Amino acid sequence: MNFMNSRHRLFEKCTVADLTNCLLSKRAIFLPLLVLISVFSHTSLSFAEGSKAAKVSLESHLHIFFPNRDTGGSYQKVKDQVVDFLESGRVGQALAISSSYLVGGSDVEEFAQTPQLREIFDSQVASLVEAHPMRLIGVCGFNQLWEDGKEVLGKCLAQPGMLGMKLRFSNEKLSDPKILENIRSAIASHEKKMKFVLIHMPAEYPFVLSSPKSYNEKQRKEILKKDTIEIAALVELARKFPAIRFVVAHSMNSSELINELIRLVKKDKLRNLWIETSFALNQFIPDENMPPGKRESWKAYAKAWREFGIDQVIFGSDQVIGQNENIKSGYDKGWRFDDQLKQLLANTFLTEEEKEKILKTNGAKFIEWVKEAQAAVRSSN
Ligand SMILES: [Zn+2]
Repeated sequence: MNFMNSRHRLFEKCTVADLTNCLLSKRAIFLPLLVLISVFSHTSLSFAEGSKAAKVSLESHLHIFFPNRDTGGSYQKVKDQVVDFLESGRVGQALAISSSYLVGGSDVEEFAQTPQLREIFDSQVASLVEAHPMRLIGVCGFNQLWEDGKEVLGKCLAQPGMLGMKLRFSNEKLSDPKILENIRSAIASHEKKMKFVLIHMPAEYPFVLSSPKSYNEKQRKEILKKDTIEIAALVELARKFPAIRFVVAHSMNSSELINELIRLVKKDKLRNLWIETSFALNQFIPDENMPPGKRESWKAYAKAWREFGIDQVIFGSDQVIGQNENIKSGYDKGWRFDDQLKQLLANTFLTEEEKEKILKTNGAKFIEWVKEAQAAVRSSN
């Protein structure tokens, strides 16, 4: 979840109805087929069939928040909502993120008292992934402040289908030598089992974008320089672990930061660095009231993604399912997903071919690669 984003609520009025025009044509092709299948089978759509009709091949940023404790089937209720979301025809597959990374983190204090929640959250996600192996790939939570992080991560990754790790920063910096070493050694311990890291970078520059008048040119440059140090630390990690894919969440909420990333990796283009699109197009943009065809920030993102390498850009929506006593997001019937898809489709600075890559081709390739890498490890054991 992107805590910085207080504008999310603004977009709640964007409903599925808004999407109808752009998506109806695609649906129309599948609808008769779906009716036919359900008539013949007398059952609801299977996951495999739903996957074919999905608008997006891979949702790379799906949060699952379980309640702090199970009060009579409440964990199950969240799992049912995840299945509902999958069956809604929006996505083929999803990276399902355990919220364990919040436990013991510096911004949800209550969780610090109950470290056992980490394993509970992880194994609840794992059981859901195990029940839907063709639709979900599990992402373990990890917090850079955990002293026993290696062990917690190891237990999580030992469960079937848990193949990635989510990293998110509050007040910490990735470039902090102690933090970086904690993360590096956790990854190194589980290098074989873990396939990817979804990383929400610590970056201050998006705040400059959200209120440009509060910063003068010198301050703006200083903050950009500070964030570049964080990006350099990410590049260092990616170089150290070429077999693990690093997916940069939210496109760092700034096309300028993507450009810094491009600048840093220019000499030797890293094939294991990927960019995810969630909330890039509608966060911190000074020109959000401009029509899509005129938005400078949308143009800047399209350009940055293209220069980075459009083949390594994947769709994500930061969709949240479930809630707990500390986080009051709640299941929102998928509006975040719908909103993010709508923004991407409306970006006139991207070609149709590029949109197809971001929404379908690249995600499908990502899944295929994860499954192949997993199979290769299994056969070597
Ligand atoms: Zn998120």
